[in-house]
Amino acid sequence: MEITEKVHTVDDVYGSNVVLLLDTEITVIDTGFPGNGQKILDYIRDIGRQTEDIKRILITHFHFDHSGSALEIHNLTGASIIAHKDEVIKNVDGTLLLRKGEENEPPPLWYKLALRATGLGRRSPKKPARQLHDTPVHKTVSHGDIVPGLGGISIIHSPGHTPGSISPFVLDPKIIFLGDSVINNIDRLSRPLMWDRAKRRTLDRSLQELRELDATIACFGHGPALTEDVMTKVRGLTDRPYDLPTWQIALKNWRTLRKWRSTGQRPGAWQTKKKNQ
Ligand SMILES: [Zn+2]
Ligand SMILES: [Zn+2]
Repeated sequence: MEITEKVHTVDDVYGSNVVLLLDTEITVIDTGFPGNGQKILDYIRDIGRQTEDIKRILITHFHFDHSGSALEIHNLTGASIIAHKDEVIKNVDGTLLLRKGEENEPPPLWYKLALRATGLGRRSPKKPARQLHDTPVHKTVSHGDIVPGLGGISIIHSPGHTPGSISPFVLDPKIIFLGDSVINNIDRLSRPLMWDRAKRRTLDRSLQELRELDATIACFGHGPALTEDVMTKVRGLTDRPYDLPTWQIALKNWRTLRKWRSTGQRPGAWQTKKKNQ
């Protein structure tokens, strides 16, 4: 689906949105769950481009609903996988791997439930979880770095949802990619569901720092792109302090959670499904 002439989302993928920046070289932003690789390549062929034009895969954060098909695309095209330096760990051989979220602490319950919904998580004591595959990272980025693509993709570090979440910002046209730092529920924008109050405060500081941007389009990991009143709506998120108890936040977000879970079980965007239901 075309957002602008040079910015498309791939239809009917599982997991997060997959965005293509179509310059002479193609940049893929996020890849959804594992198994989307061929669909992404087919889309690129369908719009008359060569799959060899894919040069880089930029991951907004390590979560598997965003990074799941990165390895597949890398294997099919040779494109390099790029993530923030705080989203990687060192492999025994010194190469870099994307974190899996289970390094120092057990993954949070919502993440386990989501993995289970997609058949990746531990389903019962007799059916142990399928191992998440390793995803190599070929290049790391930090705040302020510029990645090639559409005149330059500026990397804004937005920790909170994960330590190395990034909000890539393209200058022409002015598009901000918010990953999971902001969710588009169609009727409203919201923060992602996070249990840890300290991390919510970190996220809020990151969102405060985006207030001064002049983006005219916002893309989200989940939910359709926003093309009207973008910054008014993004600023609206931090206009009021956000310090609700976790149970209230969970209650507020249960619809989002259900939608999010269903994008892992069947392909398609939130908006499309809403129309079909
Ligand atoms: Zn996430
Ligand atoms: Zn996500």
